Amino acid sequence: MNRRKFITRGALGVGATALVGVSAQEDAAAQQRITKWDRSADVVIAGAGASGLCAAIMARDQGASVLIVEQNHDIGGHAMVSGGRIPLGGGTRLQKKFGIADSADQVYLDHTDFHNLELRYSDRELVRVWADENAATFDFLLDNGVQFEEVTPTLVNGGTVPRLFRTKVYSDDLKVTINGSPGSGLVRALEKSARAKGVEILLNHTLTRIVRDEKSQRVQGIVAKIDMARCWRWRWARRCGARRTSRASMAAR
Ligand SMILES: Cc1cc2nc3c(=O)[nH]c(=O)nc-3n(C[C@H](O)[C@H](O)[C@H](O)COP(=O)(O)OP(=O)(O)OC[C@H]3O[C@@H](n4cnc5c(N)ncnc54)[C@H](O)[C@@H]3O)c2cc1C
Repeated sequence: MNRRKFITRGALGVGATALVGVSAQEDAAAQQRITKWDRSADVVIAGAGASGLCAAIMARDQGASVLIVEQNHDIGGHAMVSGGRIPLGGGTRLQKKFGIADSADQVYLDHTDFHNLELRYSDRELVRVWADENAATFDFLLDNGVQFEEVTPTLVNGGTVPRLFRTKVYSDDLKVTINGSPGSGLVRALEKSARAKGVEILLNHTLTRIVRDEKSQRVQGIVAKIDMARCWRWRWARRCGARRTSRASMAAR
């Protein structure tokens, strides 16, 4: 799919524009006055957690320009403090390396097994889609620099095939890994890949509103608030992406 088709078919719902304001009243007033956006991108994503980072990389891989607004002073979300346990199979490259035979069908069967009390009532259609994407998703993580502990995976979720790998802690720096959590190996690697590919991440930016066209209700953009004090306090203004102002705006294509 080329960039044009990707934007047209897949990303308009999230393609967005941001106006950065400082209060609810100012946001409301500013929305009336939005005639020129300060920033523009094909796709704007709220949240630089595991989902947001993956979505950003995938959009960028399709040729879209991507901005992420993240309310926290760092990327990662919950995944940063997570156990980094990734229960994906279906015949991943790492499973093959350990001589484990698996398939999307086996993933589907395991996650809809009547004897599995937790999973027996799973939505079949959802599990089917998820099962079909298991291996590709895991390999996407490998392709984007995520490293896993190279030990034989373990069984998980009552499955019949070992699928559970754990990400390696990203570094020895406890600040970078937030107390050495394995999840750092997931999100720091994704962050590195996203930035290298040209995704712009705006930290300390909180999405406060989605702006829609009044008539068509089509998404035009978002309103976000910058925590300028925190940007400068942490001397992360450059990573924050903020200018020397508490107001700025961004536009969608
Ligand atoms: C202690 C712990 C251990 C875990 N261990 C595992 C595990 O081993 N394996 C596993 O598969 N799962 C594990 N999980 C679950 C997993 O971490 C989460 O399911 C996953 O991280 C969710 O990612 P997400 O990106 O969807 O959401 P989130 O991590 O919640 O990310 C959302 C991001 O959006 C930002 N945000 C929110 N609102 C706004 C806004 N208005 N504007 C801008 N930014 C905003 C947040 O700051 C955050 O960075 C664990 C979770 C925890 C808490």
